[in-house]
Amino acid sequence: MSKSSYYQNNFIRQIIDKDLEKDATTVVRTRFPPEPNGFLHIGHAKSICLNFSIAEDYKGQCHLRFDDTNPVHESLEFIRSIKEDVQWLGFQWHGKVRYASDFFEQQYQYAIELIKKNLAYVDELSPHLIREYRGSLKVAGRNSPYRNRSIAENIKLFSKMRNGSFAEGSACLRAKINMDSSFMILRDPVLYRIKFADHHQTGGKWCIYPMYDFAHCISDALEGITHSLCTLEFQDNRRLYNWVLNNITISAHPKQYEFSRLNLEYTILSKRHLNRLVSEKIVEGWDDPRIFTLSGMRRRGYSAASIREFCRRIGVTKQDNIIEISELESCVREDLNKNAPRTMAVLDAIKILIVNLPDNYEKMLNVPNHPNNSGMGTRIIPFTKEIYIDRSDFSEEKNKNYKRLMIGKEVRLRYACVIKAESVKKDHFGNITDILCSCDINTFNKNPDDGRIVTGVIHWISYRYALSAEFRLYEPLFTSPHPWATEDIFTILNPNSIIIKQGFVESSMKNIKISLPFQFEREGYFCIDSVYSVPNKLVFNRIVRLRNTQLKKLTQFPIGHNN
Ligand code: ATP
Ligand code: MG
Repeated sequence: MSKSSYYQNNFIRQIIDKDLEKDATTVVRTRFPPEPNGFLHIGHAKSICLNFSIAEDYKGQCHLRFDDTNPVHESLEFIRSIKEDVQWLGFQWHGKVRYASDFFEQQYQYAIELIKKNLAYVDELSPHLIREYRGSLKVAGRNSPYRNRSIAENIKLFSKMRNGSFAEGSACLRAKINMDSSFMILRDPVLYRIKFADHHQTGGKWCIYPMYDFAHCISDALEGITHSLCTLEFQDNRRLYNWVLNNITISAHPKQYEFSRLNLEYTILSKRHLNRLVSEKIVEGWDDPRIFTLSGMRRRGYSAASIREFCRRIGVTKQDNIIEISELESCVREDLNKNAPRTMAVLDAIKILIVNLPDNYEKMLNVPNHPNNSGMGTRIIPFTKEIYIDRSDFSEEKNKNYKRLMIGKEVRLRYACVIKAESVKKDHFGNITDILCSCDINTFNKNPDDGRIVTGVIHWISYRYALSAEFRLYEPLFTSPHPWATEDIFTILNPNSIIIKQGFVESSMKNIKISLPFQFEREGYFCIDSVYSVPNKLVFNRIVRLRNTQLKKLTQFPIGHNN
């Protein structure tokens, strides 16, 4: 099955179906148009999956076009990361990578055409006054005193703008539409502004740059895009999109359609905010595993397939809504449950001494790597006199509801035998250093002979063979489920968004590959961190817990509690 053919029907596909009924020869052409001013996030994944899957399903083409009209905030580093992320998600754009700046010269000529049709003028009001003259939804706009310059004068002034004879902010080119329009976007929108900034593609060639609304529709038309899909906040801009294309001499007229943005609980999906988190070092970079950039998610261990599946499940509509983080996590979990080999790790270790085994006791156990998939094979784990278990799997206090290890009570060691805690050894501070246990050597792979029932099962690691490892457990970066609604996101940062533990993994983990995810039994899904892990120090990221814990309780309980 192709990656996208199972995408649900949605209103955009219905529109395309109708268009194809009218003209079956249409080649459906979409585009993904990121501005290279930050890394892509999961919201962009929604747009990527939509645009690329439509092109794939209709045997059309999807272009990758950088909307690079504001060089001040753009960089080659962002371009590199965006290309990498689109390909990692599993999509390939048609032909070369495109840029709005490929068309700067044509766009300039179209601006001149508008001037010649008396549909654009050079304004010398300051940006502040332009805003003031624009009015508001309640107050009509006012015409700029420069609005009625002659065509000849406008042509001369526009070429002066291009030549660098005006200072930044002292002149701009505006469309001449209607200062009374009930659509603010049509109140003589700015088409070009002056910026003395070098551009990553065009270098120092230009000092005037087109605005998004002018460049986008022209680039779409010149590339032969048929369906230009964007998010709902561009609904009003569609009027300007059509106005420009209706008033210039261009053969194609793509149609713009809007769908709702992805909003995801506990996450910020705005490059402006993400940029602040990165530049003020709240997070470690654009690939910090706590933020939902695609590079952060990749580093954390989310697979591309699970992100595509998430985008498929949320669908595409015109309704604004907020998706629970558990929806994303369940896609990730389903994927990992199927594909991640199992192994054991102890995150917060406490030592057990099995008193009835000889000091040099060693039993090699052959255990499955996946409970339901024998194709994943088996591995050998050593069982020895001394082992580690997790501190939370032992209770000194008697509690009849406690299913794990207690003094006088039996528990099964996963894949091994039944042990019973007899006593504890403590240091002079009163901390437990060893739990002394006895084991029933006849219980490997079977229940006790005398019919005793042992229900609890805990995981463990041989003390002698354990490899030390660091575990990085992630919690939401924000304490509010709707961080975007908070005036200052810096006031709702979760101080416990990362919890670091030092523990142990099986010796079988010695040479594992970076990208491979694992289930640490009873602990969660983890993968090697590509940045912190080095040959002598394994560092793991927790991708997701084994089960959905109720995030709603985050604001009431101290964050970082165990499952
Ligand atoms: P941001 O708010 O993160 O800066 P943007 O819209 O400015 O986003 P662009 O690089 O212009 O970012 O986005 C490229 C494409 O991705 C656009 O078509 C945009 O509509 C879409 N997109 C951006 N954010 C989302 C989102 N949260 N959900 C769905 N699509 C999105
Ligand atoms: Mg944008």
